[in-house]
Amino acid sequence: MPELPEVQILVNQLGPRLERARIQAVEIRDPKIKLRHDIVGRKILRVWRRGKNIIFDLSGGLHLLVHLRMTGWFEFTEPKRYRVAIRTGKGTAYFEDGRRFGVMQVVTPAELQRALAALGPDPIADGCDLSRLRQTSRPVKVALLDQHLVAGVGNIYASESLWRARVNPRRRADRLRPEEVRALERGIVTSLRKVIRYGPRIFDVQQFAVYERAGKPCRRCGTAIRRTVQAQRSTYCCPQCQR
Ligand SMILES: [Zn+2]
Repeated sequence: MPELPEVQILVNQLGPRLERARIQAVEIRDPKIKLRHDIVGRKILRVWRRGKNIIFDLSGGLHLLVHLRMTGWFEFTEPKRYRVAIRTGKGTAYFEDGRRFGVMQVVTPAELQRALAALGPDPIADGCDLSRLRQTSRPVKVALLDQHLVAGVGNIYASESLWRARVNPRRRADRLRPEEVRALERGIVTSLRKVIRYGPRIFDVQQFAVYERAGKPCRRCGTAIRRTVQAQRSTYCCPQCQR
């Protein structure tokens, strides 16, 4: 599932291809997606991201709000199957989404504001601020997945960041010491920024510290990485570094 860095990489590709282009046609191939027709003829002013949401600002004060969920992605050459094609004067963006959980909708500025107000701080756009973790007694790994507390971190980068911060994923979020919270803030920013730098090559070159490395040696101390399950999701950690 795309998390903040993958979404940022996609936004970095969408911007130069679509910004300042006029929408000439919108072709919807999946009836689950409904878009108002009057976005045709509008200009795409800016493509940006907040948490895992992609926002296209359109001329005339509307926004196209996209959440990729499990398998959504935009391609710029025509794939075999796609849900929506947005055709513009500068080229076409195809919304591809094998499992069809992705969401695409046209919203007003007020609706956009409501949708984004529910999100916690975005570690890249706003600077990393985990003060909201103090509001929950859940295990810190589970809390990091809650988009109301921090926006954009998902299952992969929660494990990766906790390893960087040397914090055990089962620790209660509200019991973390201030220096551990700061280490975790640094861990999140480092993990996310490192991945964003990969750019579109990400899926070929990315190497995880702990994610999906159960049984393999910790890159810091050599201890076998352990996989556990928290809230029905896999967690990976080093039992030595993250006591
Ligand atoms: Zn270790």
